[in-house]
Amino acid sequence: MHFQKFGKLPPAPYDVPAHSRRRRKLYYEGLEYLESKNPDEETLAKAYQLIKESADMNFSYALSKIGEFYRFGQFVDKDSKKAKEIFLDLVERLNPTAALNLGQMYHDGDGVEKDSKKAGEYFEKAFLYASREAYKGDWLGHDVLDNKFLLVDHEINNAIKKYRLDPICDICHENVFEQRSFTQSPFREIRKVPSRIEYPEYDDGKPVIRRGFCCVNCMDEYIYPLMEAVKKGLVSEKEITYLDGRDDMMNALKIFLKAD
Ligand SMILES: [Zn+2]
Repeated sequence: MHFQKFGKLPPAPYDVPAHSRRRRKLYYEGLEYLESKNPDEETLAKAYQLIKESADMNFSYALSKIGEFYRFGQFVDKDSKKAKEIFLDLVERLNPTAALNLGQMYHDGDGVEKDSKKAGEYFEKAFLYASREAYKGDWLGHDVLDNKFLLVDHEINNAIKKYRLDPICDICHENVFEQRSFTQSPFREIRKVPSRIEYPEYDDGKPVIRRGFCCVNCMDEYIYPLMEAVKKGLVSEKEITYLDGRDDMMNALKIFLKAD
C-alpha cells in the first residue's frame, strides 16, 4: 500500500494569500506614519500600532522593525538583549533587515561586545538575503539593496544575477550547490559545483517553491514525494500553490511525510 507512505497535509491555519496581503499592507501603512515629516505623538502611536499588528501576524519585516524599536528604545524601553533575540530569530528566516541590524550592533558594540568579524558576516548575510528577496521580486529586499547598501539600479541587477548563480535552498537554507550529494552512493559526498548552468535541474523546487531554489537533498526529501502525492490525488493543486506562502510550511511538510 503506497498510500501509507504519506500522512495528511495539515490545512493552512488561515487564508494564505489574504493573510500575506493584510500583514504586508499593515506594515506599509505603519511605515508611512513612521516616516512622515514632523510626526506628532498620535501619528507615531498609529505607526507603532500598525507595525505591531503586522508583527503579530508574523510578518518578518514588521518583526524586525519591532526589534529596531527595542534596539533604539523607540516606543518601548531600550532592550538590546531582546532586540538581539528578535534579530537572531529572523536571521533564521533569512530576513535581511535583521541581519543588517545585527551587523550594525556588532560593528558599533551596541548592546553586544564589539566584533568586526561577526559584523562583517552579518553584513554579508544581509546582502545575500536582500539579493534573494529582490530575486524573488520582493520590493522590500530591493529596498534594502537600494537604501541600506546604497546600490544603483544596475548594481541591484548584478546582485540579483549573482544570486541566481549561487543561491540558497528555500527549504533548508543551505547553499544549493554545496548541498549537491550523491544519494545513490553509500557515501554521501558534498562538493561545490561551479555553476548551476552545468546543473540546470537544480534551479527550482517546483511545484512547491515558486521563484526560488531547492537543493538536491530537499528535492529528494520533500519535493518528489509531494509531486507523487499530487499525482495520486492525496494533495490538491491548490494546497501546493499556497504551501510556500505558509509560515508553517516546514512543519506541515514534516507532518505530511512522517507517516512512513
Ligand atoms: Zn535544501
